[in-house]
Amino acid sequence: MNTSTFRIIPLPTEVAEGARRIAKTGAADHQIVIADSPSGYPCRHCLRWAKPAERVILFSYAAIPPGQPYSESGPIFVHAEPCERYYATDEYPAAFRNGRVMRAYNSTFHIIDAEFVNGSEPEAVIERLFRNPATAFVDVRSVTHGCFTFRVQRP
Ligand SMILES: [Zn+2]
Repeated sequence: MNTSTFRIIPLPTEVAEGARRIAKTGAADHQIVIADSPSGYPCRHCLRWAKPAERVILFSYAAIPPGQPYSESGPIFVHAEPCERYYATDEYPAAFRNGRVMRAYNSTFHIIDAEFVNGSEPEAVIERLFRNPATAFVDVRSVTHGCFTFRVQRP
């Protein structure tokens, strides 16, 4: 029986593949970066940190679509080489248990709650945010850089 109280939503594969295609054209807004640290380049598609010397693409992603007060676009990385989309969607990704902030949004994309999760159990924070029936989804972001990491929905 699946008792998970949430579902992890990694970056869609179409978005990752689109970024790889655009990066190959040399577009200025899709830069290839070579990872130089083991915890500086989180891939939003496989939800792992790129290893040093791996190539990643840096581009802007609209986590919250344009046209509303809480619209938000910002820089994210994906592996430059094809990677497997994170599939353990009922398990919180081990790579991002620390240094994250969770923002709860309602169905009209307004932030209605937020919590810093460094050192606490992310599953417990997600469960608490979803206890509010108005919470439509939770976005997990870097607490230091602010960048979108992945989305969490109800199961
Ligand atoms: Zn990846």
